[in-house]
Amino acid sequence: MLKIYNTLTKKVEEFKPINSPKVNIYSCGPTVYDYQHIGHMRRYVGDDILIRVLDFNNFRVKHVMNITDVGHLVSDADTGEDKMEKGARKFNKTVWEIAKMFEEQFFASAKALNIKKPDLVMHATDYIKEQIVFIQALEKKGYTYKIDDGIYFDTSKFSNYNKLSGQNLKDMKAGARVEMVKGKKHPSDFALWKFSPNPSTSSGQPKRLMEWESPFGIGFPGWHIECSTMAIKGLETETLDIHTGGIDHIAIHHTNEIVQSEAATGKTFVKYWMHHNFLLVDGQKMSKSLGNIYTVEDIIKKAMPAGRQGFEPLALRYLYLQTHYRQEANFTFEALESAQTALNRLRENISNWGKPKVGCAEFEERFLQAINNDLNMPEALSIVWELVKSDYPTSAKAESLFKMDQVLGLNLGQDQKLEVPEEIMKMVKEREELRKIQSYHLADQMRGRIKKLGYNVLDTEKGSLVKKIGK
Ligand code: AMP
Ligand code: ZN
Repeated sequence: MLKIYNTLTKKVEEFKPINSPKVNIYSCGPTVYDYQHIGHMRRYVGDDILIRVLDFNNFRVKHVMNITDVGHLVSDADTGEDKMEKGARKFNKTVWEIAKMFEEQFFASAKALNIKKPDLVMHATDYIKEQIVFIQALEKKGYTYKIDDGIYFDTSKFSNYNKLSGQNLKDMKAGARVEMVKGKKHPSDFALWKFSPNPSTSSGQPKRLMEWESPFGIGFPGWHIECSTMAIKGLETETLDIHTGGIDHIAIHHTNEIVQSEAATGKTFVKYWMHHNFLLVDGQKMSKSLGNIYTVEDIIKKAMPAGRQGFEPLALRYLYLQTHYRQEANFTFEALESAQTALNRLRENISNWGKPKVGCAEFEERFLQAINNDLNMPEALSIVWELVKSDYPTSAKAESLFKMDQVLGLNLGQDQKLEVPEEIMKMVKEREELRKIQSYHLADQMRGRIKKLGYNVLDTEKGSLVKKIGK
């Protein structure tokens, strides 16, 4: 039985999709105005683990993710600069060019980390019409009001506004240090549609780079509306099974997604809300001033000490798996080095294993329990190591480990898929014995024979590593 923590109920719950075995998931995707860093990518690896665990439990997943390529304001309070326009200026490109560039960067990082691609990727700018129709539905139901700045959602019309964050309205008011938009009735009200500045009245304000005609006036959608619109359209349902995001999405973005969706449809918007915690670097928040923002590309380029090979993105994936998704994680290069070493050791172990045969039920059962217990990947990894070190025949360990790797996503089966023939493995073992009794000359001759048959043998701390020549 799969159990996951639901932010809505604040409990670990049994997962029961609405239309089992089908599961529909929506993830808030990246805002493509700058590089996606290893903090962002921790989140998407977290989503990937969720999806792999669902697959492993034989659910049939449909996963939709949005790309926020329309300008949203840098503050959650519907004020401040437009992120896309800011990015365009910073990189001296058009908004459309930076949207393309950073979407590509995001998917390249995702691929390097072995994250499965969503079934459907939806760009906010492709669904402006649908967002307008959504706002009109809210308008018709009396949930909106118009001010000089745009069309706003009146949160006082929605009972239980804070059910996701659990924050009470009093705290929100007290914490409403955010700049208030003139005319906004309550601090929690939010923009559904923002008007472009009127050139005749707003002297000196530059014309917006991204704006659209609408029945309300020329402007652009608020941030939250794109997710409600695209989730319902993309998943073809008004109630989703799972919606994911970062913990910073809870108080504003997801709270607002809920109210506007439920106001429009009259139905529960999402059954299970799942939120990923943040990644720190050297124990600190990532920031430009600390110079500690790294992308996946930066990680690959960074050489390991003492001339060892560079880091692999999969080592970063391994590092992410070492912390539970609801816990803050800490990135250090020392931790990455340990993760790389652990990954190398796993591979070295496997390279000598026999062809996968009937697995180890005991370990498979424990692994399943760990992943089904709110995706406890640190526990799952420790079970993997116990399995590797166990006395089971290597063919059984191989069978179980490759199964587990469907969830871990560390591509462990790749070397093994070469399936080193038994006769070669026998020679490798003989060579090991020769080395043990220090018959190095005979061991070298054996290596030569193995090479003639198309395999290289490397001596590592953990024993022999066999690779097919040319792979
Ligand atoms: P941004 O594009 O910087 O607005 O970030 C988009 C989302 O990525 C945020 O809302 C978070 O959910 C997530 N995110 C940003 N920084 C981190 C981090 N250091 N660790 C984990 N997630 C992050
Ligand atoms: Zn969203």
